[in-house]
Amino acid sequence: MIDLRSDTVTRPDAAMREAARTAAVGDDVYDEDPTVNELEARAAEAVGMDAALYVPTGTMGNQIAARTHADRGDELLCERDSHIYNWEVGGLAQLSGLQARPIDGGARGVITPDAVHEGFVERTDHRPGTGLLALENTHNQKGGVAITADEIDAAAAAAHEHDIPTHVDGARLFNASVALDTPAPRLLDNADSVMFCLSKGLGAPVGSMLAGSEAFIDRAHRNRKLLGGGMRQAGIVAAPGLEALDNVDRLAEDHTNARTLAAGLDAIDGLAAETPETNIVLVETDRTAEAFIEAIAAEGVRASAFGQHIVRFCTHWDVDGDDIERAIECVERAMS
Ligand SMILES: *Cc1c(COP(=O)(O)O)cnc(C)c1O
Repeated sequence: MIDLRSDTVTRPDAAMREAARTAAVGDDVYDEDPTVNELEARAAEAVGMDAALYVPTGTMGNQIAARTHADRGDELLCERDSHIYNWEVGGLAQLSGLQARPIDGGARGVITPDAVHEGFVERTDHRPGTGLLALENTHNQKGGVAITADEIDAAAAAAHEHDIPTHVDGARLFNASVALDTPAPRLLDNADSVMFCLSKGLGAPVGSMLAGSEAFIDRAHRNRKLLGGGMRQAGIVAAPGLEALDNVDRLAEDHTNARTLAAGLDAIDGLAAETPETNIVLVETDRTAEAFIEAIAAEGVRASAFGQHIVRFCTHWDVDGDDIERAIECVERAMS
């Protein structure tokens, strides 16, 4: 089976397993796990922020960020198809009493400065007030769109004009960085915090990082505990994360594989795929997504339904160029 449902399906390699086995550990809730501390320092440096916090999942990282930046009752501006709004179980409302104001970011999911100004709500006796702008890079549901430094700068600058901070959901930030050939810190020049996943294309078994200023991370540390994310000898799971940080350049292979896959699938009758910017290929099928997924699974390829007729294929560490060629052949057979 060639599993292209998600870049989260990768399994840790021998080096990661060895790193976990031999990791120095301590109680991370007391900040005493040397491996976690090293990971947090390296992660902060990798994104050009002052400090970072190891969190079990990207979802928790985003939810901590929202809770730490905004006050109960605030609005949060986000893209209509963003993960934080659609795929986190309504956590903004459930966990932090925040109201999302979704903005349509068009085909690429880019929030413009005009959209920020238009969506901003001034706090009055009648209105909640906007507490945070959340951006997503790469944009998952738009097909792994790599949003440029200029686009992020402009949206965040508009938010700052209203004195509101900007959080970047960078679950796949390094995919954007590699695709755009822009250092990750440059993508975050105007951002106040970022979350990125170690457990996606970078290949770690567990974990994400939340980064920002020292003061922000101090408060985030408390909110992590509140949400149940205070882990003890977490160095065991953080150690593979240190290995994962060395996998950034490798993401370019995933992008090449995604382009090959998109071209191969687009050439099949009944399918349409645009050239992907990173490792996510969205395919439109003339069947229902469910029927298509069932048909290709029978031939040995797995993908995810992303809309009534849209299916997502994700390339990752555990598939190589040969797997991609085989996957295209399998889909061809399923469609004939
Ligand atoms: C995967 C993902 C997350 C959440 O990460 P988990 O570790 O699965 O909770 C957040 N945002 C985006 C854009 C993602 O793709």
